[in-house]
Amino acid sequence: MVLGPVLVGAYFVGSAVNNIDRSRSADRLAVATTAVRTAVNVLCQQLRAAAEVVALAADRAAAVGQVVDRGLAAAVRVTDGAGQVLHATAPLPAAPWRDCAARTPAEAPPGALVVRVELPGGATGAAPGAVTAMQPVNPALVARLAVLIGAAVTLPDGPDPTSRLQHTTEPAGVREAVLGATGGLDGEQVVGTSDGRYVRRVGPSDGQPLSLVLSVPRAQPVSLYVALAAAVLLTVLLVVVVAGRLARATSRPLVELAGAVDRVARGDLTARVPVRGRDEIGRLAGAFNRMTRETGTYVAALTSSRDQLRGHLEVLGDTLASTHDLQRILRVILHSAIAATGARAGAVLLVDSAGLLVAQATEGLEAPAGGPGPIRVPLGDLVGAVTVSGEARCGRVEPAVAPPGEPPCRTYIAVPFAAPRADGAPRADAAPRDGGPSPRAGGPPDGAAPATFGVLALYDRLGGEEFDDDDLVTLRTFAGHAAVAVDNVRVHEETQRLSLTDPLTGLWNYRYLRQSLRREVERATRFGRMLSVLALDLDRFKHVNDTHGHAAGDRVLVEFARRIRGEIREVDLAFRLGGEEFVVLLPETDATGATIVAERLGAAVRDTPIAVGGLAAPTQVAVTVSIGVAVHPHHGGTGQEVLNAADKALYAAKASGRDTCRVAGAAEAPATGPGLPAPAGPAEGTPRAGARREPSAQPGAGGNGSETEAAPGSGAVTPRGATSGPHPPRQSRGR
Ligand code: GH3
Ligand code: MG
Ligand code: MG
Repeated sequence: MVLGPVLVGAYFVGSAVNNIDRSRSADRLAVATTAVRTAVNVLCQQLRAAAEVVALAADRAAAVGQVVDRGLAAAVRVTDGAGQVLHATAPLPAAPWRDCAARTPAEAPPGALVVRVELPGGATGAAPGAVTAMQPVNPALVARLAVLIGAAVTLPDGPDPTSRLQHTTEPAGVREAVLGATGGLDGEQVVGTSDGRYVRRVGPSDGQPLSLVLSVPRAQPVSLYVALAAAVLLTVLLVVVVAGRLARATSRPLVELAGAVDRVARGDLTARVPVRGRDEIGRLAGAFNRMTRETGTYVAALTSSRDQLRGHLEVLGDTLASTHDLQRILRVILHSAIAATGARAGAVLLVDSAGLLVAQATEGLEAPAGGPGPIRVPLGDLVGAVTVSGEARCGRVEPAVAPPGEPPCRTYIAVPFAAPRADGAPRADAAPRDGGPSPRAGGPPDGAAPATFGVLALYDRLGGEEFDDDDLVTLRTFAGHAAVAVDNVRVHEETQRLSLTDPLTGLWNYRYLRQSLRREVERATRFGRMLSVLALDLDRFKHVNDTHGHAAGDRVLVEFARRIRGEIREVDLAFRLGGEEFVVLLPETDATGATIVAERLGAAVRDTPIAVGGLAAPTQVAVTVSIGVAVHPHHGGTGQEVLNAADKALYAAKASGRDTCRVAGAAEAPATGPGLPAPAGPAEGTPRAGARREPSAQPGAGGNGSETEAAPGSGAVTPRGATSGPHPPRQSRGR
């Protein structure tokens, strides 16, 4: 780009120098022309003077000699009128002679310049004589002219372009070129030759009869052109160097940038490029650095968030996999959800049997203003509405219109906990009632539609922003999995509860008796409290079955269980061991209290016959129960021992005529048979006044051992296949 203008400039400088040189040379040639005319004119006048001197001289011969000697003429010839040579210097120049007065171009190259003066006083009619003064045209004359005019002089042999060289002062190499260049020129034109000359033709004129070519060397200094070429070269070099540096300076940041981009592409986000200026490249480098820095920050945040999430997932996974602790699972679920969405607070609420949403786990929420106990939310607005609709929702809550009962918040997001079951009815999630487990509501699941049994609610996203649709999707997915886990735990709990429950009466079963006995004995031992055990056995129950049928017998058992539950405290536990044998545990109760309970139970059974059969024609079945009472630690150090003692007391009660109760006291004493009086003593219960004494020979009341069903009858209870836990009293002891 720079080279073009430099070359054009050099061209113009060169041509300007050339033009100046040309005009200067033309001026020099013009001056030389004038000078040559003057010089030749002077020469002619000198010849004329010489001729006139000779013509006027008396002694012409001597005059000729003097004129030649003085150099006024190179040769002189005197002729008479007839043309006879009177005097002459010898030798005369070669012809043709060119007269100084001639104006036309000479046909042939002149041998000499001559001036002819007629002699004075010639005879009348006769031609006078003449004196001719001559100056030979030779290289010496040409050289003299050249010296005089300060230019090279060339004398061609003719006037036309084809003339050849006659004499010249030019050096040998340029002569022909000088002559060739003058062909066709008029008097004024100046031309340049290829040999570095400017030439001009000088034609014959007044007082100058010669055709001459004047030439001067071109004055243009070669050094100027050399300097010009050097300047151009230098400029070119400079341009190349500057362009190279410029290109390097421009491309270096780009190269650095490309390298950094490569590193970033390979995953190295620490790549940075130096910012060298505020131009576009510098801004690009700055923007690149900012971009990589921020990307690095994002990646670090993502990595940390991924690690956090991984940690949460591990905790969640471990928790879900290893525990059936519902509260712990709910806490982990809540914690993970809060961490995932950046919420300030949250709660997991499950629908209770009363249809209220009850918080099972909370984080960041204050205790409800209404008093102690968990947060309870009605099934209505906001979070409560999610339970009804089963649809997740989020939004902002204006404090002025915040629904009552809901935790105070500015923003919230709530997603349902739904399990794939069709009943849709809230499951009884409360612990089993103390008197016995509560039956589970609803029919069997068919897996058709998810039923909402709780809500995961988060409040006040940190940063003040509202929860958005992304949070909704994330949390809904999360809650879906969490709900399955929660439901599994609940199913597990339910299964466990059922495994500890007697299906007919809903009372606890023998398995749970073993656990409870162990626990209660341990507690009583630790705190120095007493624990009473009642062993109950319906009297002559075989007879009921035989008389009214097995179904009626079942109905009697169910009603008997219901009455037991109605007569005992919440902390007491009732069990059905099998058949018509039951056990009641009375924590923190001594023999006196236990006897009172036993008598109350006996009365509750005895006083109101149990209606069996259809509603249309119910049959009233009178039932009584015999009860044995034993107290820890008086009648046994272990649960099994106390249970055995209670069983023995029951045996005693049977033996004393049934429909009564006996306190162990004399458990080590031999068991009494049916109909025998109850052991006396302050520690022993007294048969209730008015207790009916049924005859031992009732239908179905087999003799001793006659109706043993499972094991040989025995007054003492023996473990059934296990030695670690208590053993239920035998059915049908044959008492
Ligand atoms: P006793 O006063 O000596 O206890 O006489 P009993 O007839 O009650 O005593 P026994 O142990 O001989 O009879 C128990 C009967 O209870 C035997 C069986 O027919 C009945 N039975 C046991 N389990 C069930 C049950 O689940 N349902 C019904 N309907 N009857 C049962
Ligand atoms: Mg019985
Ligand atoms: Mg029995």
